[in-house]
Amino acid sequence: MTQDSVKPFTLTLGHLYPEQLNLYGDRGNIMTLRRRCQQRGIALRVVGLGIGDALAPDEYDMLFIGGGQDKEQAPVAQDLYEMKGIGLWAAIEDDMPVLAVCGGYQLLSHYYRPAEGPDMRGLGVIDAWTIHKGSHVARCIGNVAITWNGMTLVGFENHGGRTYLGSAKPLGKVLKGYGNNAEDHTEGAIYRNTFGTYLHGSLLPKNPHFADYLISLAIQRKYGQELLDTTDSDMGESNGTVHSQISNSVAVASTQTDETLEILAPLDDTLEWEAHASMLERLGLYSAANAVLRRSKD
Ligand code: GLN
Repeated sequence: MTQDSVKPFTLTLGHLYPEQLNLYGDRGNIMTLRRRCQQRGIALRVVGLGIGDALAPDEYDMLFIGGGQDKEQAPVAQDLYEMKGIGLWAAIEDDMPVLAVCGGYQLLSHYYRPAEGPDMRGLGVIDAWTIHKGSHVARCIGNVAITWNGMTLVGFENHGGRTYLGSAKPLGKVLKGYGNNAEDHTEGAIYRNTFGTYLHGSLLPKNPHFADYLISLAIQRKYGQELLDTTDSDMGESNGTVHSQISNSVAVASTQTDETLEILAPLDDTLEWEAHASMLERLGLYSAANAVLRRSKD
């Protein structure tokens, strides 16, 4: 395989409601995905999808929806139902990687009952529901750390709504913070390749492993067969970005997640892991912080 015949990898990310749902730097998630793709020679095209825009699932490889205040969520809920619901549901059922943060996460569930006003109908693709306990009850605000895939995720949360999971699997278990509802120690939700979370901050800059997991899922979904068909030597030699380790040799990997994580060339994430560890330290999770620093040096 010659250099010229190597087709560069491209991904298209649909950013849902960038004007309405962009609290606490959620846009930082897009910047992180773009930078980490760029560093592997993967071209990431970002398309904003606002109120009134239709969502044709075949045009995207991954989707992001951020958080927002109740007053911004109401028109979004309406538009999700009238304009994007069917396309978004089809994309999710077809295992497209989707990251939904806070208010966006709440609207992928059955409904959000705000402190005031009528219930906001959600897409109902995540089997969960959210209830705001009223302005007299303290919001869930602060730094938060959860478990994920034997590692940790860190971020910042600020939500009045409490989310309760039905059959949806949690994204992780709360180590410090409130999580879904400050009651059952769950945080976020997973349905197929859709990840709901209350972690703002923004989430991905301080969690490079999760950013890479989303990128890897998108690459595998779009190029999976191609990657498998292409032998290691072809791939390694021709395109230093994505080195195919999806051959049998990684079958020993402990979880599917590890396998997926191993298809992207590693980056120097020293700064990211230091930021991650310092958040864990601030939360008093010293041994988790040390584990992160040790692993980042491996
Ligand atoms: N408005 C919702 C709540 O308060 C979501 C907040 C957010 O996205 N940060 O729960």
